[in-house]
Amino acid sequence: MTSARTPLIAGNWKLHNTVAESEALAGAIAAHVGNGLACEVVVAPVATSLAAVRETLSGTAVGLAAQNSHWEDSGAFTGELSPVLLLDVGCTHCIIGHSERRQYFGETDAGVRKKVSALLVHKVVPIVCVGESLDEREAGKTLDVVLGQVDAATDGLDAVALAPLVIAYEPIWAIGTGRTAKAEDAQEVHAAIRSRLAELKGESWATTVRILYGGSVKPANADELLSQPDIDGALVGGASLSAENFIPIIDAGVSRAEFSARRRSLEL
Ligand code: PEP
Repeated sequence: MTSARTPLIAGNWKLHNTVAESEALAGAIAAHVGNGLACEVVVAPVATSLAAVRETLSGTAVGLAAQNSHWEDSGAFTGELSPVLLLDVGCTHCIIGHSERRQYFGETDAGVRKKVSALLVHKVVPIVCVGESLDEREAGKTLDVVLGQVDAATDGLDAVALAPLVIAYEPIWAIGTGRTAKAEDAQEVHAAIRSRLAELKGESWATTVRILYGGSVKPANADELLSQPDIDGALVGGASLSAENFIPIIDAGVSRAEFSARRRSLEL
């Protein structure tokens, strides 16, 4: 059966854009998405722009995502944000375990797991990033690394608790480098992640989980990546910083949704 998963296109703005720049970019994206498209769209501005972007997106179907969260609700954790505060500011999603956080800020698998659980409790959708380094890929360890990260992020949580989970497969060597995984290589990893989720938590849940690809996604490669059966969307860094580049990627998500719907109607 062809996928019934709604594609998700997520823009990670990283440490870019003032409040005014964030509002302008969000406004251009919201104007394209309007009340909704066949694919879901979220943007992740810097924390200082979350409240302003929420206002810009109000009344549109574009979701608001944070780039990180602590697992505790509140307390003596200087510099952190919490799921409660993300919900308060209007976030629907939160990126967790991005390789830049793992690499530069000491994010661990154990921390990712606690954050996943805390976000789910507060009904903020975690977008959990997993991915291998170039050395790991060249040593043939891609699946060991990626599936190990998937195991750790979901450890001890059942399919009911994990229902809204989104995974983003982001090979580290493809992030911000202009190098993209070949669509069929990415598909192989996505399929392996889905099989592992099925083994861990059951087939029926695993078939509903959206697995995004991230790593130098741009208008020129989005259609090919999103035509793979297990690539359910994209987590986009650099190309999400301009509406001109991000909108064609959203449109690739819409095409995937429409193609899947047509295929499903023929299968019925
Ligand atoms: C990312 O930040 O998650 C990312 C995939 O970045 P880029 O698209 O720039 O490679």
